[in-house]
Amino acid sequence: MRQHRAMAVSLAELARRAAADALALVLPVSCAGCGTLDVALCAACRRLLSTPLPLTRRLGPRLDVHSAFAYEGEPAAVLRALKEDGRTSLARPLGLALAARAASVFPGDRMRYVAVPTSPAAMRRRGYRVVELVLRRSGLPAVPALRTARRTADQRRLGRDDRARNVSGSLTAAGVTPGEKVVVVDDVVTTGATLSEAARALERAGGVVVGALTVAATPKRGSARDTATSED
Ligand SMILES: [Zn+2]
Repeated sequence: MRQHRAMAVSLAELARRAAADALALVLPVSCAGCGTLDVALCAACRRLLSTPLPLTRRLGPRLDVHSAFAYEGEPAAVLRALKEDGRTSLARPLGLALAARAASVFPGDRMRYVAVPTSPAAMRRRGYRVVELVLRRSGLPAVPALRTARRTADQRRLGRDDRARNVSGSLTAAGVTPGEKVVVVDDVVTTGATLSEAARALERAGGVVVGALTVAATPKRGSARDTATSED
């Protein structure tokens, strides 16, 4: 009996290894952050993602954006792999970075986190919602309170003023209790136009927006054009 069980386990293990080997032949894996072979996310990059930086940017008088990383190097590469290569397992380490940043900014506060909604075009292109997925994997208490009210042009080709005009009035909010504290969540902050619009919609619905939280922040003086994957 014992022998049978051992054999069943080893057959299952063999089958698992064979499947993994077959997959590796088709899709060689490399670290999403640094390119090290045969690992989806290496130990060094995992460690890097587990220690977010204290980055904060002020967006107008009442809204601070807290980010876990600058949009560069390994964190940017991991975010791009999630957004552009379909590597959705990376949502968890990025979500944990988001949660760690939230814990340092809003310790012990009771609030809910609201993802900036994915545009229908981005959803069609990828088949999944990046910000919602990262927020879900973060374990932070989330409420899907924001909706797209109208179509917007692709932000990637627009400068600061055009981005603000493009997203103005593009979001609506519902499902927030009046006076409830909320935090707006996005993957990358570039000009902050989308986050400001999200905060406006949430406040209009009665929420108290205590801040914004993103995985990454683009360098402040950089051109919006440098960040081909942000704010869409
Ligand atoms: Zn790595």
